[in-house]
Amino acid sequence: MSFKQFNLHPQIEAGIQALGYSTPTPIQFQSIPAILQGRDVMGLAQTGTGKTAAFALPILHRLMNGQRRRARALIVAPTRELAEQIHESIDELGCKTKLKSVAIYGGVNKNPQIQKLRGGAEIIVACPGRLLDLADQGAADLSNIEILVLDEADRMFDMGFLPDIRRITKRLPEKRQTLLFSATMPADIRNLAKDILHDQLTLRVDDGLPVSTVSHALYPVEQHLKTALLMKLLQETSTESVLVFARTKHRTTRVAMQMKTAGFPVTSLQGDLSQSKRQAALSGFRDGKYRILIATDIAARGIDVTCISHVINYDMPDTVEAYTHRIGRTGRAAKEGDAFSFVTPQERDLVGNIEYVLGERIERRTLEDFDYTLPAPVGSTGSTSRAGRSLKPERREFPARFLSSTPAKKGPSYHMSPRASSRRKG
Ligand code: AMP
Repeated sequence: MSFKQFNLHPQIEAGIQALGYSTPTPIQFQSIPAILQGRDVMGLAQTGTGKTAAFALPILHRLMNGQRRRARALIVAPTRELAEQIHESIDELGCKTKLKSVAIYGGVNKNPQIQKLRGGAEIIVACPGRLLDLADQGAADLSNIEILVLDEADRMFDMGFLPDIRRITKRLPEKRQTLLFSATMPADIRNLAKDILHDQLTLRVDDGLPVSTVSHALYPVEQHLKTALLMKLLQETSTESVLVFARTKHRTTRVAMQMKTAGFPVTSLQGDLSQSKRQAALSGFRDGKYRILIATDIAARGIDVTCISHVINYDMPDTVEAYTHRIGRTGRAAKEGDAFSFVTPQERDLVGNIEYVLGERIERRTLEDFDYTLPAPVGSTGSTSRAGRSLKPERREFPARFLSSTPAKKGPSYHMSPRASSRRKG
């Protein structure tokens, strides 16, 4: 099976080759012919399945014919990072087509975006708020849009964007092709789909299931020992890039500081950072300057760094869906990845749900030479729970069933030693 079967324009084939894609992923195989035929598509696809190219390739193909220098395709995404990434993928896939794409999102100066719109970008990749802003002031003309893509629709719903999405669709021509991608299908998204899609083809690519190339392990640990365990684990495990999720902005910054002080090549990403700092953190992580990125869930979607070998849940997420999205950052495009989760006694309820969805019990591991009995520092409150209550880790114990463990596999080498950063390419 190859991309040739889709009979895409030769200039688009050239882009596919430049990216080194040889075989379509299942979602590409299923959706590209339908999109090329002009059908509406609802794709239930998890992250990391290749869904960006699944919609970008047929869009580029369609835009090769017809008028240039006006906005004809609109892709709406929930976060700036995702918008930027889709825009970059389109630029890469369409590098030989002379079609132009522009990324539109808030938190940065509007003027360069307005200029690119005026310059005649054919493809707009946008977050809802800034797009409406520019449409209201007449800078974004949506009257010629032929294809609308709503990417990560469930995430847009979580972020409260549904009213904005409806405002955007009202501004678009009625006669258009609409594609909606979502990892999960809550009722509100189903209703939205009913309203805006017509005679759609529904495609499912293992929706709701984490990618099968990821293996999972739990590390039961008390709250106050998490940072020490993280450092030990990274020292003893052979890794490429590692994405670590913490629950709050404050914890993200604090853990990153502690790791940095200990000499680990680390950076952090959370919502309070300016756009330029976010971009610096992401590109530093992407090009290997920082091997470790500590992030809040803002990074759970959209980050596309193919060499993430490990996702570590420093704090467990709130839902199984969030777990799926977080670990979707590793094991991408059929590469293998590991998902490690630190679990305090207070966080273990979710574990059962995750195991139910995965259909298997997740291996419990302990590090042989890590001191799990160290008490919390005097005066420490451990940390705060989701509800903001102080946990008292020293008073809680894991039930034996939960702790039954397998010693951690040690990596073959000592890859993530502190001070390794200076040896990495910058
Ligand atoms: P996505 O799910 O669109 O974020 O894509 C996940 C990753 O898979 C990205 O790094 C893509 O560049 C890569 N990818 C997408 N399609 C293919 C393909 N057919 N062959 C190899 N890699 C791909």
